[in-house]
Formats: sequence, C-alpha cells, structure tokens
Amino acid sequence: NPAKTLSLRVVPYGRNQRLLIVRDVSERLMLDAARRDFVANASHELRTPLTVLRGYLDLMEMESQGNGVLAPWHAPVVEMRSQAMRMENLINDMLKLARLESGRAQMREERLDAPAMIQRAVEDARALSRGQHRFELAVEPGLGLSGGETQLQSIFVNLISNAVRYTPPGGAIRVRWQQTAEGVRFSVADTGIGIAQKDIPRLTERFYRVDVGRSQASGGTGLGLSIVKHALEAFDGRLEIESEIGVGSTFTGVFPPHRLLRLPAPEPAETP
Ligand code: ADP
Repeated sequence: NPAKTLSLRVVPYGRNQRLLIVRDVSERLMLDAARRDFVANASHELRTPLTVLRGYLDLMEMESQGNGVLAPWHAPVVEMRSQAMRMENLINDMLKLARLESGRAQMREERLDAPAMIQRAVEDARALSRGQHRFELAVEPGLGLSGGETQLQSIFVNLISNAVRYTPPGGAIRVRWQQTAEGVRFSVADTGIGIAQKDIPRLTERFYRVDVGRSQASGGTGLGLSIVKHALEAFDGRLEIESEIGVGSTFTGVFPPHRLLRLPAPEPAETP
C-alpha cells in the first residue's frame, strides 16, 4: 500500500540469524501531524483576541498614570498587561515550534550574514542584562551560512538570552562564532547557575525546566531550547550542552560544512 509508512529494523536473533521487524507507523505519523496542525492553528487563532486585549491594556496603563497621579487600578492593570505579554510570548513560541516540527521542507535558503545577526542578538541581550553582565565576543568575520533567517535568529537569540537569564549579576557571557574542522560552531558560555548532569538530556523537551519559578520570573516560556534544537536540525546541525552546577554552562550549535558561506568583505568606508 503506497499510503503506508513502514519502519524497518534488523536485530540479531540467535547465533547466525537476523530478525527483520516491520512496523506500520503511518497512524503515528498522521497523529503527530494532526497535533502539530492543531497547535499551529490554535496559536494563530489566539493571537488576534490577545492583540486586542493588549492594545486596551496598554491604553489603560497610560491613562492610569495621567497627571502624575496613579489611579487605584494602576497596579492590577500593570499586572494584567504583563500576563498578557507572557501569553503572547508563549503563543509565539508555540507557533514557532509547531512550524519547525513540521519539517525542514519549509526552511528558506537565504544567504545569511551570521556575524551581523549575532551582533544584533548581543545588543538585545545587553538591554535584557541592564549592564549587569560582561559580554565577550569572538566572532569570525565573513563567516556566513545558508538557510532560513528566522531559524538562525531563534538559535542566536534563545541561547544568548538564556545565558543572561540564568547568570547572576556580575557574571560573564562569552559568545563565539568560528570555523572548525567539522563546520561552524556557535557557542555561548556563561558563568551562571549551571545545570545538574541528570537534567541535561531533558533540557530540549517541551516545557522542561529545572526551576519553574526562576524560568517564569525571568520571562521564559519553557520552549526556547526545543526551538533551538529543531532549528539546528533544520540546518542539519546539532546542539551540545556542557554544564556544571555553580560554575556555568556552555551551549554550542554545530553547523555542518555544507551550510558554510563566505561573505564578501565589507566595502571600505569612503573618504570624503
Ligand atoms: P526557559 O524559557 O524556561 O528558559 P528553555 O527551553 O530556554 O526554557 O530552557 C529550559 C531550561 O533549561 C530552563 O528552564 C533552565 O532550567 C535551563 N537552562 C537553559 N539555559 C540555561 C543556562 N544558560 N544556564 C542554566 N540553566 C539553563
């Protein structure tokens, strides 16, 4: 039946024999696709009403502090607005993840100026850090990639902002972008709280958090690393995680050589 998807596995059986296990996985794949479609549609539908609510809450917050006097409903409005923003982040991440999970067929093949994108992600992270962390950058110029911009941006933004969110003030964050024998490596090393070895394999599961309170308080949705993992897979890459409690963590995205792209050197600035 051409509509069926079969999974084949060969396992040793007895001394010189092999067993071929054939499994019909069509239904499981269909259910997976139905779940992804549902999540994508639901997230999309939730966005519109939420945008309307956010709009009115923005307005009410402004009104509640008119003439320099705070209205009695100022505090609840600020709280409602912050919860609405949290919901928006969550819905956007759910939509992103559902799109990524539906396969790499959708990834665009663009020429990406990765060093410039890293610069922008670091600038955003500086704003998030409010000057409380030291940033060190070692970015190889001219080292671009081919692939989708949204996917690459998700990788850079999530890993750098996680480093800020899980590193106490005074800590350092080192961002590296370099070519190696196995391709291109993007690594973010922090001197933060670190992660226990037992938790590392589970970090890329949806909504897995070591400390739910800390994740939510710092604006996390619990989906960041799942998004990073899937985005890296779209580039045929992989995620490596090393960490030690109380010492810090290093997250590295490894991109294969066939994604590498040499960017033209920037035009020298014209002298008047
Ligand atoms: P969240 O929105 O909760 O940060 P992520 O998927 O990005 O979701 O990360 C999952 C969990 O991994 C986090 O809740 C946190 O416990 C842990 N984690 C991620 N990055 C770091 C880091 N740089 N240092 C320590 N823990 C981290």
